[in-house]
Amino acid sequence: MPRPDSSSPLPAAAVAAAAAPRPAPPARSDAQSPASARWPARRLCVWAFVATIALLPLLPVPAFWITQLNYIGLYALPAMGLVLLTGVGGFTSFGQAAFVGIGAYTTAYLSTALGLSPWLNLFVGLALTCASALVLGWITLRMSGHYLPLATIAWCLALNYTMANMEWLGKFDGILGVPALQFAGIDFTQDSRIYYVIWALALLCAFALINLLDSRTGRAIRALKGGVTMAEAMGISTFRYKVQIFVIAALFAGISGWLFAHFQRTVNPSPFGIKFGIEYLFMAVAGGVGSVWGAFAGAALVKLAEDQLQVLLPRLLGTNGSFEIVFFGVLLVLILKYMPQGVLPWASSRLTSPARTRDWQDAQPLPARQRPARGQPLLEVRAIRKQFGGLVAVNDIGFDIRAGEIVGLIGPNGAGKSTTFNLISGVLSKSGGQVRLSGRDVTHLRSRQIARLGLSRTFQHVKMMAEMTVLENVALGAYMRSRSGAVSAMLRLDRAEERRIYAEAERQLQRIGMADHMHELAGNLALGPQRLMEIARALCTDPDLLLLDEPAAGLRHQEKQALLQVLRQLRSEGMSLLLVEHDMDFVMKLTDRIVVMEFGTHLMEGTPAEVQASPAVRAAYLGTEH
Ligand code: ADP
Ligand code: MG
Repeated sequence: MPRPDSSSPLPAAAVAAAAAPRPAPPARSDAQSPASARWPARRLCVWAFVATIALLPLLPVPAFWITQLNYIGLYALPAMGLVLLTGVGGFTSFGQAAFVGIGAYTTAYLSTALGLSPWLNLFVGLALTCASALVLGWITLRMSGHYLPLATIAWCLALNYTMANMEWLGKFDGILGVPALQFAGIDFTQDSRIYYVIWALALLCAFALINLLDSRTGRAIRALKGGVTMAEAMGISTFRYKVQIFVIAALFAGISGWLFAHFQRTVNPSPFGIKFGIEYLFMAVAGGVGSVWGAFAGAALVKLAEDQLQVLLPRLLGTNGSFEIVFFGVLLVLILKYMPQGVLPWASSRLTSPARTRDWQDAQPLPARQRPARGQPLLEVRAIRKQFGGLVAVNDIGFDIRAGEIVGLIGPNGAGKSTTFNLISGVLSKSGGQVRLSGRDVTHLRSRQIARLGLSRTFQHVKMMAEMTVLENVALGAYMRSRSGAVSAMLRLDRAEERRIYAEAERQLQRIGMADHMHELAGNLALGPQRLMEIARALCTDPDLLLLDEPAAGLRHQEKQALLQVLRQLRSEGMSLLLVEHDMDFVMKLTDRIVVMEFGTHLMEGTPAEVQASPAVRAAYLGTEH
């Protein structure tokens, strides 16, 4: 009955090919063997690195190398901030150096001019960094595309010149005579002593960041890169998390600045200018902007390459030119070209990473919504309208859904079904009309506010985080039902709630028949299972009303039958569904009522039998006059 189009069911052979499972990624496939599950190679490398860092100053290592390592630790901090901001969040910033400067100048000024304790100054510096990041983030993070990086360049320049023009900050000479750190009678003047402070803080920040990324907040942050639509539909305020990662990245830079001032014992504006802003970004990208440890690799690479080239090149090429900058530039271009993921992910791609331990069997269930009584009005759509320029994509559409009903929304391709979904769920603003959900006017609410009132949805074009596992993708759905924030995640105080979230995510995956795939990366799934995963994610929000946009597209016959069973089961549990689907057999078997659209208008509404018998509907699909 439906016209063939790009989104309608594919030919059987194509479906079979698409649904055939692709090989699992090597990084996770051998996590099953007990020995490697206990000590996966990646974890072993991390602890070997930490142990080496802890032992180095006790070994006969030349002082020069300890100093180099101090710089690497200092540079890794702002670079780590960029891993979060750029690698995970997707926002390019050239402004990290300015925040390093705020941390450094605060402690330098307060400890020299006012004689305050450096330890107190750390907190003052971080408070100042936080305040300036909040203000700058609030203004600039609403920008998109190339405007945001440009804005970060602008304020890095502005802050740097402010430092250089203030009489009381010593202008271009800066502040001299910054005291060394002291703690419990220990003096940290020597490089091999402050080494421990630098590396303790750098490693603490690294572990805090790793914890953060593996949490409710972390999943929300990682979802930013997938565009705002999906995250907002899961109830996540994307702007809030953009500001949050901007502030965290700035705080990491501020800590580095504080250490820098007490390590060098003097500050001046030049290390906090745009040149360093660019270098921090280089470090993060060259090291591996998607991985926390990549920041250390990048800091080491940049610091060592710069220094070694400075020694080597004059010997080879003579001293009448700064060839090291040229070579360094070429080296970076080669890295970006041949290792776009960065040096560390390239070097460690064969190492196994741990599969998530399934420790949530006896977790408490998450809070659940009280379902409305069967037959109560749930969704009231009144004359909603959407115009795209001259095209009226949705033309005064109206219908009702009562609690416990499954309603189908059908019509030829381009009829306006997906746009209707977007209007109801708040993804698009309406040109007119009204929508009420459980008696509340939701016409002008944003999609995340509507989601909080009990509406969840899937998308015609699957929106998911390909680099997250199936389980993590589904856990995004539980965002609104949980509350741990960034700080508790960094300190790992959120584990009890995380177990509840994963238990719920696994329950929904089981329900949809996908529990076996939970540790796979979502991007490795075929299209059909990806759609099922989206349904599980929507179910994880515990909605009263579920909007499914072509859920059966790309599914095999068996999978469709299973999905049919699941959706019937949901109805029997009191959930309501609005369904767009091209497979008429599926729609007719499942729905209580069907709304038919054509060219944006309401063509008819009735039971499946009435719709099937209607000559007008037949004509709409076959494109003939009626
Ligand atoms: P359906 O889901 O029924 O296939 P859609 O709701 O996707 O149809 O599209 C309805 C009409 O609106 C189509 O003509 C489509 O090209 C148009 N349309 C959809 N989204 C946009 C947009 N963002 N901008 C302009 N036109 C759009
Ligand atoms: Mg559509």
